[in-house]
Amino acid sequence: MPFKNFFVNVLLPMPLKQLFTYSITEAEAGFLKKGMRIAVPFGKKKIYTALVFDIHNEAPEAYEAKSIHQILDDKSIVTEAQLDFWVWISEYYMCSLGDVYRAALPSAFLLESETVVLNNPNFDEDTSLSDAEFLVYEALQQQSQLSVLEISNIIGKKNVFPLLKKMLDKKAVLLKEELYEQYKPKLVKYIRLNEAHKDEASLHQLIDSVQRAKQQHKALLTYFSLEAQTKKPIQAKKLQEESGVSSAVLKGLVDKNILEFYHIQVDRVHFEEKGGRLKSLNEHQEKAFEEIETSFNSNTVTLLQGVTSSGKTEVYAKLIEKQLAQKKQVLFLLPEIALTTQIIGRLKEYFGGKIAVFHSKYSMNERVEVYNNVLQNKEKAQIVLGARSSLFLPFSNLGLIIVDEEHETSYKQFDPSPRYHARDAAIYLAHMQGAKTLLGSATPSLESYFNATQNKYGLVNLTKRYGEIQLPEVELVDIKDKHRKKRMTGHFSDRLILEIQEALENKEQVILFQNRRGFSPVVECETCAVSPQCPNCDVSLTYHKYRKELRCHYCNYRQAMPLNCGACGSTKLSTIGFGTEQIELELHELFPNANIGRMDLDTTRGKYAYQKIIGAFEAQEIDILVGTQMLSKGLDFGKVSLVGVMNADNMLNFPDFRAHERTFQMMVQVAGRSGRSKKRGKVIIQTFNPYHQILQQVSTNDYSAMFKEQLEDRWHFHYPPYYRVMKITLRHRDLITLENAAEWFGTSLKNAFKDNVLGPTSPNVSRVRNLYIKHITVKIPPKQSLKATKKHIARIEKTFSAIGAFRAVRLGIDIDAY
Ligand code: ADP
Ligand code: ZN
Ligand code: ZN
Repeated sequence: MPFKNFFVNVLLPMPLKQLFTYSITEAEAGFLKKGMRIAVPFGKKKIYTALVFDIHNEAPEAYEAKSIHQILDDKSIVTEAQLDFWVWISEYYMCSLGDVYRAALPSAFLLESETVVLNNPNFDEDTSLSDAEFLVYEALQQQSQLSVLEISNIIGKKNVFPLLKKMLDKKAVLLKEELYEQYKPKLVKYIRLNEAHKDEASLHQLIDSVQRAKQQHKALLTYFSLEAQTKKPIQAKKLQEESGVSSAVLKGLVDKNILEFYHIQVDRVHFEEKGGRLKSLNEHQEKAFEEIETSFNSNTVTLLQGVTSSGKTEVYAKLIEKQLAQKKQVLFLLPEIALTTQIIGRLKEYFGGKIAVFHSKYSMNERVEVYNNVLQNKEKAQIVLGARSSLFLPFSNLGLIIVDEEHETSYKQFDPSPRYHARDAAIYLAHMQGAKTLLGSATPSLESYFNATQNKYGLVNLTKRYGEIQLPEVELVDIKDKHRKKRMTGHFSDRLILEIQEALENKEQVILFQNRRGFSPVVECETCAVSPQCPNCDVSLTYHKYRKELRCHYCNYRQAMPLNCGACGSTKLSTIGFGTEQIELELHELFPNANIGRMDLDTTRGKYAYQKIIGAFEAQEIDILVGTQMLSKGLDFGKVSLVGVMNADNMLNFPDFRAHERTFQMMVQVAGRSGRSKKRGKVIIQTFNPYHQILQQVSTNDYSAMFKEQLEDRWHFHYPPYYRVMKITLRHRDLITLENAAEWFGTSLKNAFKDNVLGPTSPNVSRVRNLYIKHITVKIPPKQSLKATKKHIARIEKTFSAIGAFRAVRLGIDIDAY
């Protein structure tokens, strides 16, 4: 028999272009399977978690294959189907497979043998941090851990240990060394009778033997009665509670070999089976349900356009029920964690024991458990509710993907790579698994609605609110006029104040909406008009009244509110603009007796923060809830009769080709929170432009007029859905190098794509975290092949990265950059 060598090709969790080859023994070759993890050395003494791709007998030509370090799994943890999906993501979004690998697995699966820096959950947020420390701290909020190398990249310094030492002293981080399993199964302590006493005779003896030890006797009798009642394993804690004895008493019984402790591994999160019945659908919902089913016979994707509060969730529930009956898995995608609270609440009534939830507020351990349950196609993970990253779970038997509020921008991942759009990727995932996709929204994205009009997707309409309640009445209030007539109190028009008063008198609730983007409170010197700037980013700092400090929304830099102007020394500093905090303050003055709540990024940091606010509002402990766009997304409150939009203009004027579409969607969605259960609701929109066509379309809820008009603009200005828009981002510490690099890249692109290349340009915020930024936009006309375009750009990219001077320039490609 000829002598054979064995090799394994693996994927490393790094942005590398190719797989790496390691040498293995014949026994290892027999054991390893695609999708198992192995620890391999890579680079200088580092060990990484690699994923097995294939096993073969061909030695690599360019290097000597090293041997592997250790096998980490005895079964594949990544399926073929997942790998196919990863390959599609990496090809479609032009990123490395390694990037997808990193994003796709819960971080607990990726072991590394180096010093890793972790976020310290016990860190006191009031501790002051230096700029560099803050960068690290901030990065750790995004990623659960960072390597020393990554940290050195972030702060742009080789030696980071002095910094880490300081952060350790301040308890801002934790360090870990070596290869380790991060996932820790949760064990619950149970108690049972020792084997020796299983027969009747010895049982009686047993009870007699502890007659004198009163407490032990009591514990033992309680044990028997519990066992008889429940016929289930008994938790040590439960026995203690029921019998009212201390843990020492149980320990005593164990020491006497009468009882014994044992452990059972449990999931950290699980929902109870409630057995609630689905609500019966009304005639409109029933019709929509049937139309969706019919549509699925000929379309793999169907768009459900249902006005706000038409009861889309109940239609989804019925579709889910049907999938479950066929033993299929269902993925329910949601754009926002705030929303999951309510939807979980509703769906678990029907499907309690079958729901798993997956999103970033869940701990690493919780996410591993959901991953494993899906991998094993367990009963309790038949329905996965989650944010965009749940697309990467190891589904094997998907029947349906529901993308709720499909128009939401938060479905798009911008940074880091892979820059995928979860709705679009979901459609592909469903296609791969032979499943269907349902897109749901009251205000579909132009792209999806366009696809429906082109018969690429089926379209189903639900035009009536549940209970035949009318859509709310929308009133546009001209605040320019109100200012002139002195009918404004702070940011409130007399109309809005009056309506709030009325709602409060009727014991109804109010939602006030203030868009955060582009309109944060900025400090400005009244003498020289200079605003304090972030030292790392090219933006004005925003004022946070609550902590009396200035913060950068890009890098989280903070400083105390200065007493005088840094430029001219004047003490007259005014806070212009207004955010949710400002509104909240003004409300306290206007309505001192009302309970006021606020929901924005600052008030929803903790794991249960959303639940608390939403719960308090549902329980009517809050009369007026002030919030940012997270309030607009599909929440269902019965007692809200008034919604106020503080200022519609900052959204309309946002410099983005979708600003009008987005404004329409957001306004219709927030309006949709009003008047959901009994009487018709009211919406007040304050604006300087009451005659703007978008606001007019909002007030008449005229989606098709909006669609038609926007589509014309898109065609005229060469935007999606007609043209694709691709964005290339370059970043570097040094402006000159960056400018040269961007120029080089832009010229190469223009040689190929001519006028369809825009830029290089500097974005609004042209420096973030000490890196300068340039953008180049490439538009792809309807007839130009996307594939060929990407291929050409990949070639340019390859040449670019071979140029020495540009080596340190960071390049990012965003395929559908919107
Ligand atoms: P949407 O998601 O379309 O905005 P929801 O699904 O939140 O609407 O439904 C709005 C309200 O109407 C919810 O409070 C819901 O419980 C109620 N509802 C919808 N359909 C039914 C039904 N068939 N039976 C009883 N209540 C329903
Ligand atoms: Zn900054
Ligand atoms: Zn000044």
